[in-house]
Amino acid sequence: MSITNGRDTMAGLSILVAGGAGFVGSHLCDALLAQGHRVICLDSFLTGSMRNLEPLRNHPRFSLIEQDICVPTVIDQPLDRVYNLACPASPPRYQADPVHTMMTCISGTGNLMHLAAEHGARFLQASTSEVYGDPERHPQHEDYWGNVNCTGPRACYDEGKRAAEALCFDWLRAGKGDVRVARIFNTYGPRMQPDDGRIVSNFLVQALRGDPITVYGRGEQTRSFCFVSDLVAGLIALMEVEDNPGLPVNLGNPGEFTVMELAELVRAMTGTCSALVHRPLPADDPQRRRPDISRARAILGWEPKIPLGDGLQRTAEWFALELGVDLPAGPE
Ligand code: NAD
Ligand code: UDP
Repeated sequence: MSITNGRDTMAGLSILVAGGAGFVGSHLCDALLAQGHRVICLDSFLTGSMRNLEPLRNHPRFSLIEQDICVPTVIDQPLDRVYNLACPASPPRYQADPVHTMMTCISGTGNLMHLAAEHGARFLQASTSEVYGDPERHPQHEDYWGNVNCTGPRACYDEGKRAAEALCFDWLRAGKGDVRVARIFNTYGPRMQPDDGRIVSNFLVQALRGDPITVYGRGEQTRSFCFVSDLVAGLIALMEVEDNPGLPVNLGNPGEFTVMELAELVRAMTGTCSALVHRPLPADDPQRRRPDISRARAILGWEPKIPLGDGLQRTAEWFALELGVDLPAGPE
């Protein structure tokens, strides 16, 4: 027996991580291997990178399958857990091929659920705060049904993830398998792609290069930022909790910041001389977002530990190394 997140869990489980070469997925692979499990990463490398897997390449309990989840996969070894993180998460990336994003969410998720069922494996779906769209309720509790524009440019992702959730809960109601759904809020940390297009990577890379920091709209819109290690702990806790909650669970950091506040924090932390420039607000950009995490606290005993300042500092240090630039020393 070994301990997983404070719970007694069998060590040496066999775990498939779809999207394991991505930002969150690669940290999840690291954490699962560190707990003594066998990890199979399934990824098409659409937005992931071999670089993220570099530390794992020669790990004896790690293996890699390069494949799109829209194509059914056969795994000829036992599987105990399947995490589905395979889907681009950055708006420019998921909008680059919107039809493929939608098919990834629907047929890809369906394929992986079938795979999990064949193996009698638990399945965890990485859903998103985007299911709340541009929310009319604040903060967002899981009982809120959301406000999504089903014909806009974000719909491929938002509606795709909503459809995937519908699939998950129908699967569960039909008794076809043990399926869990995490609604993930904005997450950041080392291994975000520098050209990914999301706010934290954009701002840090721009600041470190001395380029203008691009604030979309007036910068009054808010987001809540969760450091990646906190999210990974939450995903594992949700997968391993003995009683399936049978409900979606928000995972995110309830601290709420405007885009302008984040820009100023990044400027102060990096000591950059970058100016702020305003760019048009993308269509359907949600105005406010903050998770209500009371369900995660109650069911999983989980809450994030890393404050934004600390997490940003660690992420800035990582990007500085990647870009080969100096970062002023952080606070003692
Ligand atoms: P990411 O883009 O870094 O990683 C996604 C990974 O999935 C990549 O390795 C990519 O190559 C792979 N992938 C994409 N489409 C695929 C397909 N059809 N078949 C096989 N592999 C495919 O994104 P991330 O930030 O690591 O997000 C991981 C998951 O978490 C996604 O499902 C995303 O929707 C969800 N999520 C993330 C955030 C966040 O802030 N990071 C927020 C909400 C939800
Ligand atoms: N954003 C910004 N400048 C950037 C990138 C993003 O002002 O260079 C804003 C974006 O308009 C949104 C917020 O930051 O309001 C978060 O954007 P991101 O793409 O990271 O995630 P999402 O919109 O999916 O929450």
